[in-house]
Amino acid sequence: MLIVPEREIAALMTREAAFAAVEKVFAAMASEQAYNFPVVREAIGHEDALYGFKGGFDRAGLTLGLKAGGYWPHNLEKRGEINHQSTVFLFDPDTGKARAMVGGNLLTALRTAAASSVSIRHLARDDAKVLGMIGAGHQATFQLRAALEQREFEKVVGWNLHPEMLPNLEKVAQEAGVPFEAVDLPGMSEADVIITITSAFSPSLMAEHVSPGTHIACMGTDTKGKQEVEAALLSRATVFTDEVAQSVSIGEAQHAVAEGVLKAEDIAQLGAVINGSHPGRQSAEEITLFDGTGVGLQDLAVAAAVVDLAVEKGVAIEVDF
Ligand code: NAD
Repeated sequence: MLIVPEREIAALMTREAAFAAVEKVFAAMASEQAYNFPVVREAIGHEDALYGFKGGFDRAGLTLGLKAGGYWPHNLEKRGEINHQSTVFLFDPDTGKARAMVGGNLLTALRTAAASSVSIRHLARDDAKVLGMIGAGHQATFQLRAALEQREFEKVVGWNLHPEMLPNLEKVAQEAGVPFEAVDLPGMSEADVIITITSAFSPSLMAEHVSPGTHIACMGTDTKGKQEVEAALLSRATVFTDEVAQSVSIGEAQHAVAEGVLKAEDIAQLGAVINGSHPGRQSAEEITLFDGTGVGLQDLAVAAAVVDLAVEKGVAIEVDF
Protein backbone atom coordinates (compact mmCIF):
# COMPACT_ATOMS: atom_id res chain seq x y z
CA MET A 1 0.00 0.00 0.00
CA LEU A 2 1.16 3.54 -0.72
CA ILE A 3 1.01 6.47 1.70
CA VAL A 4 1.10 10.10 0.57
CA PRO A 5 1.31 12.24 3.72
CA GLU A 6 -0.39 15.60 4.03
CA ARG A 7 3.02 17.37 4.13
CA GLU A 8 3.79 16.20 0.56
CA ILE A 9 0.56 17.34 -1.10
CA ALA A 10 1.41 21.03 -1.60
CA ALA A 11 4.54 20.23 -3.60
CA LEU A 12 2.80 17.57 -5.69
CA MET A 13 -0.68 18.80 -6.57
CA THR A 14 -1.34 21.69 -8.93
CA ARG A 15 -4.56 23.64 -9.58
CA GLU A 16 -4.40 22.42 -13.19
CA ALA A 17 -4.24 18.76 -12.13
CA ALA A 18 -7.12 19.26 -9.67
CA PHE A 19 -9.19 20.98 -12.37
CA ALA A 20 -8.57 18.16 -14.87
CA ALA A 21 -9.41 15.44 -12.32
CA VAL A 22 -12.65 17.13 -11.19
CA GLU A 23 -13.82 17.98 -14.70
CA LYS A 24 -13.27 14.38 -15.78
CA VAL A 25 -15.12 12.85 -12.84
CA PHE A 26 -18.09 15.26 -13.20
CA ALA A 27 -18.36 14.08 -16.81
CA ALA A 28 -18.17 10.43 -15.71
CA MET A 29 -20.95 11.07 -13.15
CA ALA A 30 -23.21 12.57 -15.81
CA SER A 31 -22.65 9.64 -18.15
CA GLU A 32 -23.41 7.28 -15.25
CA GLN A 33 -19.96 5.72 -15.29
CA ALA A 34 -19.29 6.98 -11.78
CA TYR A 35 -21.52 7.21 -8.73
CA ASN A 36 -21.33 8.45 -5.17
CA PHE A 37 -22.32 6.37 -2.17
CA PRO A 38 -24.74 7.80 0.40
CA VAL A 39 -22.96 10.25 2.70
CA VAL A 40 -22.52 9.37 6.37
CA ARG A 41 -22.21 12.36 8.72
CA GLU A 42 -22.40 11.96 12.48
CA ALA A 43 -22.13 14.22 15.50
CA ILE A 44 -20.01 11.79 17.53
CA GLY A 45 -20.63 13.40 20.92
CA HIS A 46 -16.91 13.94 21.55
CA GLU A 47 -15.05 17.25 21.13
CA ASP A 48 -18.23 18.56 19.41
CA ALA A 49 -16.88 16.84 16.29
CA LEU A 50 -18.79 16.10 13.09
CA TYR A 51 -17.33 13.00 11.45
CA GLY A 52 -18.32 11.15 8.30
CA PHE A 53 -17.55 9.33 5.08
CA LYS A 54 -17.97 10.30 1.45
CA GLY A 55 -17.23 7.54 -1.04
CA GLY A 56 -17.89 6.32 -4.53
CA PHE A 57 -16.77 4.33 -7.52
CA ASP A 58 -15.62 5.68 -10.86
CA ARG A 59 -15.77 2.86 -13.40
CA ALA A 60 -14.21 5.06 -16.08
CA GLY A 61 -11.21 6.11 -13.96
CA LEU A 62 -11.17 2.83 -11.95
CA THR A 63 -11.15 4.76 -8.68
CA LEU A 64 -12.79 3.24 -5.63
CA GLY A 65 -12.64 4.52 -2.08
CA LEU A 66 -13.72 7.06 0.48
CA LYS A 67 -12.79 10.21 2.31
CA ALA A 68 -13.12 9.95 6.07
CA GLY A 69 -13.03 13.02 8.25
CA GLY A 70 -14.91 16.06 9.37
CA TYR A 71 -14.82 19.10 11.58
CA TRP A 72 -13.28 19.38 15.04
CA PRO A 73 -14.18 22.93 16.17
CA HIS A 74 -11.66 23.10 19.06
CA ASN A 75 -8.56 21.83 17.24
CA LEU A 76 -7.04 25.23 16.54
CA GLU A 77 -7.48 26.79 19.97
CA LYS A 78 -6.63 23.60 21.93
CA ARG A 79 -3.92 21.98 19.80
CA GLY A 80 -2.87 24.35 17.04
CA GLU A 81 -4.24 21.90 14.47
CA ILE A 82 -6.68 22.92 11.72
CA ASN A 83 -10.36 22.23 12.43
CA HIS A 84 -11.16 20.39 9.19
CA GLN A 85 -9.39 17.01 9.12
CA SER A 86 -9.68 14.35 6.44
CA THR A 87 -7.91 11.36 4.92
CA VAL A 88 -8.63 9.64 1.60
CA PHE A 89 -8.43 5.84 1.27
CA LEU A 90 -8.23 4.28 -2.20
CA PHE A 91 -8.89 0.61 -2.95
CA ASP A 92 -8.03 -1.57 -5.95
CA PRO A 93 -11.41 -2.08 -7.69
CA ASP A 94 -10.21 -5.42 -9.12
CA THR A 95 -9.34 -7.00 -5.77
CA GLY A 96 -10.68 -4.79 -2.97
CA LYS A 97 -7.17 -4.47 -1.53
CA ALA A 98 -6.15 -1.17 0.05
CA ARG A 99 -4.15 0.80 -2.53
CA ALA A 100 -3.34 4.14 -0.92
CA MET A 101 -3.85 6.43 2.06
CA VAL A 102 -3.62 10.13 1.21
CA GLY A 103 -3.73 13.31 3.33
CA GLY A 104 -7.03 14.99 2.45
CA ASN A 105 -6.89 18.47 3.98
CA LEU A 106 -5.26 20.52 1.23
CA LEU A 107 -6.83 18.26 -1.40
CA THR A 108 -10.30 19.21 -0.11
CA ALA A 109 -9.61 22.91 -0.67
CA LEU A 110 -8.11 22.24 -4.12
CA ARG A 111 -10.95 20.00 -5.29
CA THR A 112 -13.59 22.46 -4.00
CA ALA A 113 -11.92 25.35 -5.80
CA ALA A 114 -11.61 23.17 -8.91
CA ALA A 115 -15.37 22.52 -8.86
CA SER A 116 -16.32 26.19 -8.98
CA SER A 117 -13.61 26.77 -11.59
CA VAL A 118 -15.03 24.00 -13.78
CA SER A 119 -18.45 25.67 -13.47
CA ILE A 120 -16.97 29.06 -14.45
CA ARG A 121 -15.11 27.55 -17.41
CA HIS A 122 -18.31 25.95 -18.75
CA LEU A 123 -21.05 28.41 -17.70
CA ALA A 124 -19.72 31.96 -17.26
CA ARG A 125 -19.86 34.42 -20.15
CA ASP A 126 -16.61 34.51 -22.11
CA ASP A 127 -16.42 38.29 -21.62
CA ALA A 128 -16.74 38.15 -17.79
CA LYS A 129 -14.58 40.95 -16.31
CA VAL A 130 -15.60 41.38 -12.65
CA LEU A 131 -15.36 38.54 -10.11
CA GLY A 132 -17.43 38.84 -6.91
CA MET A 133 -16.48 37.00 -3.72
CA ILE A 134 -18.81 36.45 -0.77
CA GLY A 135 -16.82 34.87 2.06
CA ALA A 136 -13.22 35.43 3.04
CA GLY A 137 -12.29 32.37 5.13
CA HIS A 138 -9.99 29.42 4.52
CA GLN A 139 -11.71 28.09 1.37
CA ALA A 140 -12.30 31.55 -0.14
CA THR A 141 -8.63 32.15 -0.90
CA PHE A 142 -8.39 28.86 -2.83
CA GLN A 143 -11.63 29.65 -4.65
CA LEU A 144 -10.42 33.09 -5.69
CA ARG A 145 -6.98 31.94 -6.82
CA ALA A 146 -8.46 29.22 -9.06
CA ALA A 147 -11.33 31.36 -10.43
CA LEU A 148 -8.98 34.13 -11.54
CA GLU A 149 -7.41 31.67 -14.00
CA GLN A 150 -10.72 31.03 -15.79
CA ARG A 151 -11.39 34.39 -17.45
CA GLU A 152 -9.55 37.68 -18.11
CA PHE A 153 -10.87 39.25 -14.88
CA GLU A 154 -10.05 42.94 -14.47
CA LYS A 155 -11.36 43.43 -10.93
CA VAL A 156 -12.40 41.51 -7.80
CA VAL A 157 -15.21 42.83 -5.58
CA GLY A 158 -15.57 41.24 -2.15
CA TRP A 159 -18.06 41.20 0.71
CA ASN A 160 -17.79 39.35 4.01
CA LEU A 161 -19.94 39.40 7.13
CA HIS A 162 -16.69 39.87 9.07
CA PRO A 163 -14.97 42.67 7.09
CA GLU A 164 -11.71 42.25 9.02
CA MET A 165 -11.19 39.05 6.98
CA LEU A 166 -11.34 40.82 3.58
CA PRO A 167 -7.54 41.34 3.42
CA ASN A 168 -7.35 37.53 2.86
CA LEU A 169 -9.02 38.12 -0.51
CA GLU A 170 -7.15 41.33 -1.28
CA LYS A 171 -3.81 39.55 -0.85
CA VAL A 172 -4.71 36.83 -3.37
CA ALA A 173 -6.09 39.35 -5.89
CA GLN A 174 -2.94 41.48 -5.54
CA GLU A 175 -0.70 38.45 -6.08
CA ALA A 176 -2.61 37.78 -9.31
CA GLY A 177 -2.24 41.44 -10.34
CA VAL A 178 -5.97 42.17 -10.20
CA PRO A 179 -7.38 45.17 -8.27
CA PHE A 180 -9.61 44.41 -5.27
CA GLU A 181 -12.49 46.47 -3.94
CA ALA A 182 -14.57 45.86 -0.79
CA VAL A 183 -18.27 46.41 -1.57
CA ASP A 184 -21.64 46.14 0.14
CA LEU A 185 -24.02 43.42 -1.09
CA PRO A 186 -25.79 45.63 -3.69
CA GLY A 187 -22.28 46.24 -5.09
CA MET A 188 -22.31 42.59 -6.27
CA SER A 189 -24.52 43.72 -9.19
CA GLU A 190 -21.26 44.79 -10.86
CA ALA A 191 -19.99 41.19 -10.90
CA ASP A 192 -20.16 38.87 -13.92
CA VAL A 193 -19.22 35.86 -11.79
CA ILE A 194 -19.97 35.50 -8.06
CA ILE A 195 -18.62 32.80 -5.74
CA THR A 196 -20.30 32.31 -2.34
CA ILE A 197 -18.17 30.40 0.16
CA THR A 198 -19.42 31.01 3.70
CA SER A 199 -20.72 28.87 6.56
CA ALA A 200 -23.95 30.90 6.75
CA PHE A 201 -27.35 29.54 7.79
CA SER A 202 -29.29 32.44 6.27
CA PRO A 203 -28.98 34.11 2.87
CA SER A 204 -26.67 37.07 2.21
CA LEU A 205 -26.94 37.35 -1.59
CA MET A 206 -30.45 38.34 -2.66
CA ALA A 207 -31.94 38.08 -6.17
CA GLU A 208 -31.93 41.90 -6.43
CA HIS A 209 -28.12 41.95 -5.96
CA VAL A 210 -27.48 39.92 -9.12
CA SER A 211 -27.41 41.31 -12.68
CA PRO A 212 -28.62 39.46 -15.77
CA GLY A 213 -25.91 37.31 -17.36
CA THR A 214 -24.13 36.53 -14.10
CA HIS A 215 -22.75 33.10 -13.23
CA ILE A 216 -22.96 32.22 -9.53
CA ALA A 217 -21.08 29.36 -7.88
CA CYS A 218 -22.62 28.56 -4.47
CA MET A 219 -19.92 26.57 -2.70
CA GLY A 220 -20.47 26.98 1.06
CA THR A 221 -23.73 25.10 1.58
CA ASP A 222 -22.91 21.44 2.15
CA THR A 223 -25.19 20.60 5.09
CA LYS A 224 -28.90 20.65 5.85
CA GLY A 225 -29.90 24.09 7.11
CA LYS A 226 -27.02 26.11 5.62
CA GLN A 227 -27.97 28.82 3.10
CA GLU A 228 -26.04 31.55 1.26
CA VAL A 229 -28.41 32.93 -1.39
CA GLU A 230 -32.08 33.80 -1.55
CA ALA A 231 -34.23 30.92 -2.82
CA ALA A 232 -35.84 33.29 -5.37
CA LEU A 233 -32.46 33.54 -7.09
CA LEU A 234 -32.59 29.82 -7.92
CA SER A 235 -36.03 30.21 -9.50
CA ARG A 236 -34.62 33.02 -11.70
CA ALA A 237 -31.48 31.08 -12.65
CA THR A 238 -30.69 27.98 -14.68
CA VAL A 239 -29.45 25.69 -11.93
CA PHE A 240 -26.60 23.19 -12.27
CA THR A 241 -24.99 20.99 -9.66
CA ASP A 242 -22.41 18.29 -9.08
CA GLU A 243 -25.07 15.81 -7.90
CA VAL A 244 -28.82 16.42 -7.87
CA ALA A 245 -29.53 14.18 -4.84
CA GLN A 246 -27.09 16.19 -2.71
CA SER A 247 -28.17 19.53 -4.17
CA VAL A 248 -31.80 19.10 -3.06
CA SER A 249 -30.96 17.64 0.35
CA ILE A 250 -27.78 19.32 1.63
CA GLY A 251 -26.96 21.89 -1.07
CA GLU A 252 -28.13 25.42 -1.77
CA ALA A 253 -31.16 24.11 -3.72
CA GLN A 254 -32.63 22.48 -0.58
CA HIS A 255 -34.39 25.78 0.30
CA ALA A 256 -35.78 26.58 -3.17
CA VAL A 257 -37.08 23.01 -3.46
CA ALA A 258 -38.66 23.16 0.03
CA GLU A 259 -40.30 26.49 -0.84
CA GLY A 260 -41.67 25.00 -4.07
CA VAL A 261 -39.92 27.50 -6.38
CA LEU A 262 -37.59 24.87 -7.91
CA LYS A 263 -38.04 21.19 -8.80
CA ALA A 264 -35.31 18.56 -8.68
CA GLU A 265 -36.06 17.79 -12.36
CA ASP A 266 -35.10 21.37 -13.27
CA ILE A 267 -31.55 20.95 -11.91
CA ALA A 268 -28.93 19.78 -14.43
CA GLN A 269 -25.62 18.09 -13.76
CA LEU A 270 -22.58 20.19 -14.65
CA GLY A 271 -21.11 17.00 -16.10
CA ALA A 272 -23.83 17.00 -18.76
CA VAL A 273 -22.55 20.39 -19.98
CA ILE A 274 -18.98 19.02 -20.01
CA ASN A 275 -20.20 15.97 -22.01
CA GLY A 276 -22.11 18.16 -24.41
CA SER A 277 -25.47 16.55 -23.57
CA HIS A 278 -26.73 19.82 -22.01
CA PRO A 279 -26.27 23.11 -23.89
CA GLY A 280 -25.26 25.03 -20.74
CA ARG A 281 -25.62 28.84 -20.95
CA GLN A 282 -27.89 29.80 -23.83
CA SER A 283 -27.86 33.60 -23.77
CA ALA A 284 -25.80 36.53 -22.50
CA GLU A 285 -28.68 37.55 -20.19
CA GLU A 286 -29.24 34.16 -18.58
CA ILE A 287 -28.27 33.76 -14.92
CA THR A 288 -26.53 30.43 -14.35
CA LEU A 289 -26.03 29.02 -10.86
CA PHE A 290 -23.82 26.10 -9.85
CA ASP A 291 -24.72 24.43 -6.56
CA GLY A 292 -21.42 22.83 -5.55
CA THR A 293 -22.21 20.45 -2.71
CA GLY A 294 -18.93 18.51 -2.73
CA VAL A 295 -19.00 14.82 -3.66
CA GLY A 296 -16.79 11.94 -2.61
CA LEU A 297 -15.79 11.22 -6.20
CA GLN A 298 -14.08 14.63 -6.37
CA ASP A 299 -11.91 13.61 -3.41
CA LEU A 300 -11.08 10.25 -4.94
CA ALA A 301 -10.23 11.85 -8.29
CA VAL A 302 -7.72 14.32 -6.85
CA ALA A 303 -6.30 11.70 -4.47
CA ALA A 304 -5.74 9.25 -7.35
CA ALA A 305 -4.02 12.02 -9.32
CA VAL A 306 -1.75 12.87 -6.40
CA VAL A 307 -0.81 9.20 -5.86
CA ASP A 308 0.33 9.00 -9.50
CA LEU A 309 2.37 12.20 -9.07
CA ALA A 310 3.88 10.91 -5.79
CA VAL A 311 4.94 7.64 -7.44
CA GLU A 312 6.39 9.56 -10.40
CA LYS A 313 8.42 11.82 -8.08
CA GLY A 314 9.46 8.99 -5.76
CA VAL A 315 7.83 10.44 -2.61
CA ALA A 316 5.07 7.85 -2.08
CA ILE A 317 5.84 5.72 0.99
CA GLU A 318 5.35 2.03 0.30
CA VAL A 319 4.28 -0.17 3.21
CA ASP A 320 3.75 -3.90 3.36
CA PHE A 321 0.08 -4.16 4.35
P1 NAD B 1 -14.09 29.46 7.48
O1 NAD B 1 -14.56 29.25 8.87
O2 NAD B 1 -12.64 29.61 7.22
O3 NAD B 1 -14.83 30.76 6.86
C1 NAD B 1 -16.21 30.94 7.04
C2 NAD B 1 -16.67 32.13 6.24
O4 NAD B 1 -18.08 32.29 6.41
C3 NAD B 1 -16.04 33.45 6.66
O5 NAD B 1 -15.91 34.27 5.52
C4 NAD B 1 -17.09 34.04 7.61
O6 NAD B 1 -17.01 35.43 7.72
C5 NAD B 1 -18.36 33.62 6.89
N1 NAD B 1 -19.54 33.56 7.73
C6 NAD B 1 -19.66 32.96 8.95
N2 NAD B 1 -20.91 33.09 9.42
C7 NAD B 1 -21.61 33.80 8.47
C8 NAD B 1 -22.95 34.24 8.37
N3 NAD B 1 -23.83 33.99 9.32
N4 NAD B 1 -23.31 34.92 7.24
C9 NAD B 1 -22.43 35.18 6.25
N5 NAD B 1 -21.14 34.77 6.31
C10 NAD B 1 -20.74 34.09 7.40
O7 NAD B 1 -14.71 28.24 6.65
P2 NAD B 1 -14.19 27.64 5.28
O8 NAD B 1 -13.28 26.51 5.56
O9 NAD B 1 -13.76 28.72 4.37
O10 NAD B 1 -15.55 26.97 4.72
C11 NAD B 1 -16.61 27.77 4.26
C12 NAD B 1 -17.80 26.91 3.95
O11 NAD B 1 -17.51 26.02 2.85
C13 NAD B 1 -18.24 26.00 5.08
O12 NAD B 1 -19.66 26.03 5.17
C14 NAD B 1 -17.77 24.62 4.65
O13 NAD B 1 -18.54 23.59 5.23
C15 NAD B 1 -17.98 24.73 3.17
N6 NAD B 1 -17.25 23.77 2.34
C16 NAD B 1 -17.88 23.30 1.23
C17 NAD B 1 -17.23 22.41 0.41
C18 NAD B 1 -17.92 21.91 -0.84
O14 NAD B 1 -17.42 20.98 -1.47
N7 NAD B 1 -19.01 22.49 -1.26
C19 NAD B 1 -15.94 21.98 0.71
C20 NAD B 1 -15.30 22.50 1.83
C21 NAD B 1 -15.97 23.42 2.64
